[in-house]
Amino acid sequence: MNKLFRILAPTSTPIVVIHIILWIGLIWLANLGFAYMIDGRLDRSLMHYALHAIFVGGPFVVFVTFVTRYQIRFQKHLSLLSRKDGLTGLNNRRTFLELAQLRLDESARGVLILFDADHFKKVNDVYGHAVGDVCLTEIAYRLKWNLRKQDVAGRIGGEEFAVLLANATIEQARVIAARIGQPIPYRANDQNAHLTITLSMGAVTIDPKVSLDAHLIRADDALYAAKDAGRARIVFWTHETKSSNAFNYRAENQEEAA
Ligand code: GH3
Ligand code: MG
Ligand code: MG
Repeated sequence: MNKLFRILAPTSTPIVVIHIILWIGLIWLANLGFAYMIDGRLDRSLMHYALHAIFVGGPFVVFVTFVTRYQIRFQKHLSLLSRKDGLTGLNNRRTFLELAQLRLDESARGVLILFDADHFKKVNDVYGHAVGDVCLTEIAYRLKWNLRKQDVAGRIGGEEFAVLLANATIEQARVIAARIGQPIPYRANDQNAHLTITLSMGAVTIDPKVSLDAHLIRADDALYAAKDAGRARIVFWTHETKSSNAFNYRAENQEEAA
């Protein structure tokens, strides 16, 4: 069906014009054929049939072409909406999992990191949902700017994000995570209060023998350990994940979460 739509309504303007001319030409030939079939001869001039095709068939062809083009654009828009998170523009959970799986199928190496904004309920309660939304957008912006082309990022829950750092070593992951995890300052316009968002992170090195789901569970365990250890830090999953391997990226004098 999609192929048929593409044939009926090409996207580039010069091809659309050629396409309309071709269809009108076909209608002209059909007119000739039909007249010949009915009467056994052509009782009008060729120009008469051509004008008939242009003025009767033309508007119909133009209408169908533009409706189909609109339909294709609308479909693309819907497909984008179903794959992306509306607030941040990042991949949604389903798309993240799909793309991460594809990456791992290509090369089962790298580091998976889950991020969770600390005390985010309090941010909403104190500053309002709209400010919370701005903070989430800012976190997504951080992710987008600090990742490489081959990495996959997504918003996988309310204030939870995930990235797959494809082919990254643990050291590279540490550096990228520290950059993303820098506390995010926010100054609410209508209040003078100063708000700082921090992130807790759970990371796991990709093991080719383990499924993506299992990696997510491991990263989640590490994330819990990061929360337990006091938040605003990263924990790398080990077989005995404990807060003891927590790496605190905060500078000494930086503020706690709001
Ligand atoms: P913790 O440090 O343990 O993660 O605490 P928390 O408050 O961040 O965790 P909790 O799960 O209790 O609360 C998550 C909050 O995230 C609650 C919810 O209102 C907020 N949240 C989820 N999605 C959105 C959203 O799209 N916009 C806004 N503004 N807030 C959201
Ligand atoms: Mg959460
Ligand atoms: Mg949270």
